This record gives sequence, C-alpha cells and structure tokens, in this order.
Amino acid sequence: MNFENTPAFARQLDEKDPLWLFRQLFLIPQHQGKDAVYLCGNSLGLQPKSSAQHIAGQLKVWQDYAVEGWFEPEQPWLTYHQQLKAPLARIVGALPQEVTVMNSLTVNLHLLMVSFYQPTKKRYKILMEAGAFPSDQYAVESQVRYHGFAPDDAIIEIHPRAGESTLHTEDITDAINRNSDVLALVLFSGINYYTGQFFDLKAIAHAGHQAGAYVGFDLAHAAGNVPLNLHDWGVDFATWCSYKYMNSGPGGISGIFVHEKHFHDAELNRFAGWWGYHNDTRFRMTPGFKPEFGAEGWQVSTSPILLMAAHKAALDIFEQAGSIPALRQKSLLLTAYLEFLIQEINAQQGDDLFRIITPHNQQGRGCQLSVICKHNGKKIFDHLVSRGVIGDWREPDVIRLSPVPLYNSFTDVFEAAQALAEAVK
Ligand SMILES: *Cc1c(COP(=O)(O)O)cnc(C)c1O
Repeated sequence: MNFENTPAFARQLDEKDPLWLFRQLFLIPQHQGKDAVYLCGNSLGLQPKSSAQHIAGQLKVWQDYAVEGWFEPEQPWLTYHQQLKAPLARIVGALPQEVTVMNSLTVNLHLLMVSFYQPTKKRYKILMEAGAFPSDQYAVESQVRYHGFAPDDAIIEIHPRAGESTLHTEDITDAINRNSDVLALVLFSGINYYTGQFFDLKAIAHAGHQAGAYVGFDLAHAAGNVPLNLHDWGVDFATWCSYKYMNSGPGGISGIFVHEKHFHDAELNRFAGWWGYHNDTRFRMTPGFKPEFGAEGWQVSTSPILLMAAHKAALDIFEQAGSIPALRQKSLLLTAYLEFLIQEINAQQGDDLFRIITPHNQQGRGCQLSVICKHNGKKIFDHLVSRGVIGDWREPDVIRLSPVPLYNSFTDVFEAAQALAEAVK
C-alpha cells in the first residue's frame, strides 16, 4: 500500500478498518479530556469494558453459592478453565488438550523446565538468545545451578553479528548444530521484548530436534500478537502471560502448551499438585499422583477464578474478532504505517534521528517497533508523554511503540508520529 503522511489518509484507513468497532469494547486511558494514544499493549494490554462484569459475575456466584460454587452453578468453578482452552488453542496453534491456564509465567517456565530440562553429564546445555527478558535469564541460571552446573558453562547465548541488533535465523540454527552433542534444551522467546524481533520458531524447533534437544518457547510477547503453530511445529512446550497482548489484567493468569507427543511419557519429571490429578478421581484424595491427561496434568493449585474471569472476558473478544488471522491482517498495516511515518521524519530532517531496530521484514516482527533515538531520547520520550502518547522507555536510548489491532486506530499512529516530529523540532 502507498501510505500518505496526512490525517485524512489515517482517517480513511480507519473508515475501511473491519475491526474499527472493537476499540469501543475497551477502556482507553484519558489525557486532558480525550483518549490517550496508548501504544503500550506490549507491556500491559488495555482493560475490556466486559472485565468488570465477568469478575462481578463470579463474585456473585461466590456470594450465592459459597463453597458449592465449585459444583453447582451453570458454569462450575471446577471446570471453569476448560472454556478458555479452545480460544487459547486457536491463538497459539494447538489442540485444546495441549493447552491450559495456571500460575504466572515465570513460575510456569520453572515447572516446564522440571519436565523438559533433564540434563545428563554429557547433554546439559541450554541455548537461548542473548538479551532475553531478565526473568527468563534468572530462571535459566537458577535451573542450571539447581542441577549442579555452572551458568557460564551450561548456558549458550546467541548474539547479533557485530554492528547489528537482531539475529539471523541461520546463526541460531548453526549454533544449535554446532552444539548438537551437548544441548539438552533450546529455549527462545517468540518475540524478543527489547528488539521486537519475531524469531523463526519453526526453523528453531526443527534444528533443536535435529540436535536431539527439547525445544521450548516463552511467548510473552508473541501470544495474541502473531500467528503461531505450536502443534504443527512439534514444539515440546511453551508458556506465556495473558496481561500483554491478551488484555487479561495485571498479573493475569498464564497459559501453557505441552505437545501431545509427551502425554504418554511416564519418564518426564513433574512437580505435581492436586489440581493436576486425574479429574474424575481427584476428590477421592488417595495417595499416589495420577496426572490428568493432557496439559491439565501439569496444573498444581486451585483455580484462581477471578483471574480466569478476566481472561474469559478478553478471550471472548478475540473470538468475536476472528482471532489471530483477522488481527494480524490489521496489525501488519498499523505497524507498517508507523514505520512509514517514522521514516518520513528522518527524510524531512535529512538525518537518521530514529533508527528502527525491529526487523523491516513483516515475518520478522509483530505489533512492536523499537526505535533508537540518536539524540535526547529521554527528552523525546517525555515530550510524547506530555502529549498523551504512551509508549515505553528502555535505557539507554530505546522507545518501544506497539500499535495493537484490537484497540488502536491509524489515527493513533498518525498522532504518535506527529508528537515524535514535534519533539525533534
Ligand atoms: C513479560 C515477560 C515476563 C514476565 O514474567 P512474569 O512471570 O509474568 O512476571 C517473562 N518473560 C518474558 C519474555 C516477558 O516478556
């Protein structure tokens, strides 16, 4: 598409947007009496108007039924999570029995590594991207130490080439091949939180399996954002949070994926709890853990129903919108428009004031653009804030901007770029 740098053109795109009405399902933060330009859904997605009703509905069930809420209402708490599985399976490209919701993301990363990081004397290394989200780095370090290995030796990090910010797929797969004798696990994020790079997860999964390693993905920035096919790619496990692109509230419940090929593997370790016990016999309360079939067998603790209610409100909206294929179509345009407008500022100023480190190739990114400011980054960011444009700032010089197809408009993107252009003047 030939984009134009005018408000009328942005409005035209909004008028043609098949998802236009979905914005009205969200509560948009206000700035000086009008909607702020919220481009921070990569960090915390906006609140659906329906979240409050869904949570209030479960408070009412608690009020009316008390403990019988587990069994008696139309939608008993005991099976409440099951209605979340089909929409989540569509979002990550899985079979419904391969996904469930539980705990929070870093906790799930640990629990899944209990099953899928089973180092031996010879095969004990974990390969990951350099600059992974800190929580993942700490989780991996502590897992490696727990098994008696030294992080410096057991963790292989893949760095960008000199002078570059993002990774080449062949550098990742070459490193996997070179280490095929010693790799126990390949653990990558789906989208790097800092650069916004969407990795070629299919190629990484294939290389990891060729090397004889397990392959797992942290999809915090990918789930609800980009197309995923975890089942077809043969990925062993994945986990994600629901509060970024899935709009399910701060600290919202996390999701997990375990490929069905592992459902009959009795060798896998797991840290068990009663909520993962075989559903039909859980309440016999007998000794000896028997896992429920599928991903639910990794559940540990009692369902947090209020968090699940917020998640249900948000997933209903994904379903109404036509899930990822519809969202991705708009997302590609929104982010490309933002990229175009930033390059316009560079062209007008005759200088690369803003360097976008996120890949230009659409297969290599989701909603987010990470922009390095050549000068005065923090001042530019503060100007955006004063104009009601909410992105986020990462030291030393990066602004992350993520237009989200469910609630952002092309006019939002235009206004954000206007504020950037003003800031450099
Ligand atoms: C946001 C994010 C997290 C956060 O983990 P929590 O356990 O929910 O605090 C972890 N990993 C990645 C890659 C993230 O982007």
